[in-house]
Amino acid sequence: MKTIGLLGGMSWESTDLYYQQINQEVHKSLGGLNSAKIILNSVNFAEIEELQKVGNWEKAGNLLKKEALKLQLAGVDGIALCTNTMHICASQITNDLTVPFLHIADATAQMILEQDIQHIALLGTRFTMEQPFYREHLEKSGIQVAIPNDEDRTIIHDIIYNELCHGKIIETSRLKFIEIIQRLKDDGTKGIVLGCTEIGMLLPEQEILTMPLFDTTKAHVKQIVDFVLDLRRSI
Ligand code: GLU
Repeated sequence: MKTIGLLGGMSWESTDLYYQQINQEVHKSLGGLNSAKIILNSVNFAEIEELQKVGNWEKAGNLLKKEALKLQLAGVDGIALCTNTMHICASQITNDLTVPFLHIADATAQMILEQDIQHIALLGTRFTMEQPFYREHLEKSGIQVAIPNDEDRTIIHDIIYNELCHGKIIETSRLKFIEIIQRLKDDGTKGIVLGCTEIGMLLPEQEILTMPLFDTTKAHVKQIVDFVLDLRRSI
């Protein structure tokens, strides 16, 4: 079994999900007392969030690059960055890496294409919804990407930072998400990408309003487990 390096803490609430789900999947595959070989490097999210707020992606990318190199030095076979948003800095982070980097949007695209869906809507932080880095990654695989309107993007972004990253699951927020998803469905969307690693805590089901939900944490976990167990080649 290979050793995965997790670059986490953004937020730790979802890194916790990665740790649990990777171990559960490895155990499901191998049985017995098997568990995953993981080296976790968990950053202080407050430091990252400060840089996000002012748009200093270069400094954030440098910080994460240093942390990724620590994982490489520690001997991991591959690295996964446990957040969608900070993949905005993916090329900076991977610059000096020699081990594979398991990109969350590749895992997401694969999960969408397996269900033969072409039109999805992307929910995540404002950065993920509005900047091209994530959308373009999906579009490369032939997937058409819609995003919610401006008001709905604000609602989603605020719920992520003010509630989900603090581990707060609030029913009225869940209802707000469902209303937003209904509007996206009315506009022709066929599937919803939970493009933030915490949204699955609020919407744990596999489908909503008859549309599949693509949970990026689960997609990433599957890609990681396939990699460490050599089950199949990740994209
Ligand atoms: N974990 C989140 C994501 O997947 C949001 C927190 C962050 O900005 O990193 O995008």
